[in-house]
Amino acid sequence: MPSQPDECLFCSIVRNGTYVRQGKGFVAVADINPQAPVHLLVIPERHVDSFREIGEFPAREAKRMLEFVADTAREAGLTDYKVQVNVGPTAGQTVFHLHWHILGGGPQPLEDQAHAATAVAEL
Ligand code: 5GP
Ligand code: ZN
Repeated sequence: MPSQPDECLFCSIVRNGTYVRQGKGFVAVADINPQAPVHLLVIPERHVDSFREIGEFPAREAKRMLEFVADTAREAGLTDYKVQVNVGPTAGQTVFHLHWHILGGGPQPLEDQAHAATAVAEL
Protein backbone atom coordinates (compact mmCIF):
# COMPACT_ATOMS: atom_id res chain seq x y z
CA MET A 1 0.00 0.00 0.00
CA PRO A 2 1.29 3.54 -0.71
CA SER A 3 2.60 5.48 2.28
CA GLN A 4 -0.13 7.03 4.37
CA PRO A 5 0.56 10.04 6.60
CA ASP A 6 -0.42 9.19 10.19
CA GLU A 7 -2.15 12.50 10.67
CA CYS A 8 -4.38 12.26 7.61
CA LEU A 9 -8.08 11.74 8.43
CA PHE A 10 -8.88 9.93 5.19
CA CYS A 11 -5.81 7.68 5.43
CA SER A 12 -7.12 6.65 8.84
CA ILE A 13 -10.63 6.09 7.42
CA VAL A 14 -9.11 3.93 4.67
CA ARG A 15 -7.26 1.93 7.36
CA ASN A 16 -10.01 1.65 9.97
CA GLY A 17 -13.25 3.05 8.60
CA THR A 18 -16.66 1.64 7.86
CA TYR A 19 -17.19 1.53 4.13
CA VAL A 20 -20.32 1.40 2.07
CA ARG A 21 -18.19 -0.11 -0.70
CA GLN A 22 -14.63 -1.30 -1.13
CA GLY A 23 -12.61 -2.00 -4.24
CA LYS A 24 -8.98 -2.66 -5.04
CA GLY A 25 -7.34 0.63 -4.04
CA PHE A 26 -10.50 2.61 -3.25
CA VAL A 27 -13.24 2.86 -0.66
CA ALA A 28 -16.58 4.65 -0.56
CA VAL A 29 -18.01 6.05 2.68
CA ALA A 30 -21.09 8.04 3.61
CA ASP A 31 -20.27 11.71 4.18
CA ILE A 32 -20.58 12.59 7.87
CA ASN A 33 -22.32 15.87 6.98
CA PRO A 34 -24.45 15.06 3.92
CA GLN A 35 -25.30 17.86 1.51
CA ALA A 36 -27.80 15.75 -0.46
CA PRO A 37 -30.08 12.77 0.28
CA VAL A 38 -27.26 10.55 -0.94
CA HIS A 39 -23.78 11.92 -0.29
CA LEU A 40 -20.91 9.50 -0.67
CA LEU A 41 -17.17 10.04 -0.75
CA VAL A 42 -14.85 7.93 -2.85
CA ILE A 43 -11.40 7.87 -1.29
CA PRO A 44 -8.36 6.31 -2.93
CA GLU A 45 -5.97 4.39 -0.68
CA ARG A 46 -3.09 6.23 -2.36
CA HIS A 47 -2.54 9.50 -0.50
CA VAL A 48 -2.24 12.58 -2.66
CA ASP A 49 -3.13 15.96 -1.19
CA SER A 50 -5.56 16.99 -3.91
CA PHE A 51 -6.72 16.54 -7.50
CA ARG A 52 -3.75 18.69 -8.54
CA GLU A 53 -1.59 15.61 -7.99
CA ILE A 54 -3.75 13.30 -10.14
CA GLY A 55 -0.67 12.65 -12.28
CA GLU A 56 0.78 10.58 -9.41
CA PHE A 57 -1.76 7.86 -10.20
CA PRO A 58 -0.74 5.35 -12.82
CA ALA A 59 -3.09 5.70 -15.80
CA ARG A 60 -4.83 2.36 -15.18
CA GLU A 61 -5.40 3.20 -11.52
CA ALA A 62 -6.83 6.63 -12.44
CA LYS A 63 -9.23 4.96 -14.89
CA ARG A 64 -10.24 2.35 -12.32
CA MET A 65 -10.85 5.14 -9.80
CA LEU A 66 -13.28 6.87 -12.18
CA GLU A 67 -15.01 3.56 -12.85
CA PHE A 68 -15.24 2.98 -9.08
CA VAL A 69 -16.98 6.38 -8.74
CA ALA A 70 -19.49 5.48 -11.47
CA ASP A 71 -20.07 1.96 -10.11
CA THR A 72 -20.55 3.29 -6.57
CA ALA A 73 -23.20 5.76 -7.77
CA ARG A 74 -24.97 3.03 -9.74
CA GLU A 75 -24.93 0.62 -6.79
CA ALA A 76 -26.33 3.38 -4.58
CA GLY A 77 -29.31 3.44 -6.96
CA LEU A 78 -28.44 6.76 -8.55
CA THR A 79 -28.93 7.47 -12.23
CA ASP A 80 -28.64 11.28 -12.00
CA TYR A 81 -26.06 12.74 -9.66
CA LYS A 82 -23.16 15.15 -9.35
CA VAL A 83 -19.52 14.24 -8.97
CA GLN A 84 -17.55 17.00 -7.28
CA VAL A 85 -13.91 17.46 -6.37
CA ASN A 86 -12.94 20.52 -4.36
CA VAL A 87 -9.37 21.59 -5.06
CA GLY A 88 -7.77 23.91 -2.52
CA PRO A 89 -9.17 25.69 0.53
CA THR A 90 -10.81 28.57 -1.31
CA ALA A 91 -12.66 26.04 -3.47
CA GLY A 92 -13.99 24.34 -0.33
CA GLN A 93 -11.45 21.57 0.19
CA THR A 94 -11.19 20.82 3.91
CA VAL A 95 -9.57 17.36 3.89
CA PHE A 96 -6.27 17.26 2.04
CA HIS A 97 -6.44 13.72 0.68
CA LEU A 98 -8.00 13.45 -2.78
CA HIS A 99 -11.67 12.42 -2.67
CA TRP A 100 -14.67 12.48 -4.96
CA HIS A 101 -18.08 13.60 -3.74
CA ILE A 102 -21.10 11.78 -5.19
CA LEU A 103 -24.25 13.85 -4.58
CA GLY A 104 -27.67 12.67 -5.60
CA GLY A 105 -31.08 11.45 -4.67
CA GLY A 106 -33.03 14.64 -4.93
CA PRO A 107 -32.86 18.41 -5.28
CA GLN A 108 -29.68 19.92 -3.88
CA PRO A 109 -29.17 23.30 -2.24
CA LEU A 110 -27.70 25.05 -5.28
CA GLU A 111 -30.44 23.65 -7.50
CA ASP A 112 -33.01 24.88 -4.98
CA GLN A 113 -31.44 28.34 -5.16
CA ALA A 114 -31.49 28.24 -8.96
CA HIS A 115 -35.16 27.24 -8.94
CA ALA A 116 -35.93 30.01 -6.48
CA ALA A 117 -34.07 32.57 -8.61
CA THR A 118 -35.99 31.44 -11.70
CA ALA A 119 -39.26 31.71 -9.81
CA VAL A 120 -38.46 35.27 -8.71
CA ALA A 121 -37.42 36.23 -12.26
CA GLU A 122 -40.77 34.97 -13.54
CA LEU A 123 -42.84 37.08 -11.10
P1 5GP B 1 -13.98 18.61 1.16
O1 5GP B 1 -14.59 19.77 1.90
O2 5GP B 1 -12.53 18.44 1.53
O3 5GP B 1 -14.22 18.62 -0.31
O4 5GP B 1 -14.76 17.32 1.68
C1 5GP B 1 -14.50 16.74 2.91
C2 5GP B 1 -15.76 16.01 3.30
O5 5GP B 1 -15.44 15.08 4.31
C3 5GP B 1 -16.86 16.92 3.85
O6 5GP B 1 -18.03 16.79 3.05
C4 5GP B 1 -17.07 16.41 5.27
O7 5GP B 1 -18.42 16.42 5.66
C5 5GP B 1 -16.51 15.00 5.21
N1 5GP B 1 -15.96 14.51 6.43
C6 5GP B 1 -15.18 15.19 7.33
N2 5GP B 1 -14.81 14.39 8.35
C7 5GP B 1 -15.37 13.17 8.10
C8 5GP B 1 -15.35 11.93 8.80
O8 5GP B 1 -14.74 11.76 9.86
N3 5GP B 1 -16.05 10.90 8.24
C9 5GP B 1 -16.74 11.03 7.07
N4 5GP B 1 -17.40 9.95 6.61
N5 5GP B 1 -16.78 12.20 6.36
C10 5GP B 1 -16.10 13.25 6.88
ZN1 ZN C 1 -4.27 10.60 3.38
